[in-house]
Amino acid sequence: MKKSKVLPKNIYIDIDGVILTRGVAPALHLDKFLGYILENYSVFWLTSKCNGNSKSIVKYLSQFLLPQTVTLVEKIKPTSFQLDKTEAIDFNRRFFLLDDELFASEKNTLKKHNNYDSWIEINLMKNPNQLLYLINHKLFI
Ligand SMILES: [Mg+2]
Repeated sequence: MKKSKVLPKNIYIDIDGVILTRGVAPALHLDKFLGYILENYSVFWLTSKCNGNSKSIVKYLSQFLLPQTVTLVEKIKPTSFQLDKTEAIDFNRRFFLLDDELFASEKNTLKKHNNYDSWIEINLMKNPNQLLYLINHKLFI
């Protein structure tokens, strides 16, 4: 199957270090970021907190996020995997993976599929405005 340029790309997002900083604080520009990617991409969770069920994630995130942000995260689709996040990635479609940290085995799988540069390494400690930067640059359509 050829990688489609017509259909929107997939985005896979982690929670800790991407949506939440220090495990509890919403990332800066989160509403703007989520609104933009939900409008322009197919957005999936890629976190061990998901396991095929987005309702439990929404419930978990509700304790940290404002109601308007919860409305946005409700639209993110679930995935499930056993050991490596890369098990849940559809390599037949173009994608971005937003994560602060990957296992060596996950990095190897990305390299094997020639998709290592699909990983956008998030570091909100170093760059608190990174989500805003991304929607204005790398993720801008
Ligand atoms: Mg993480």
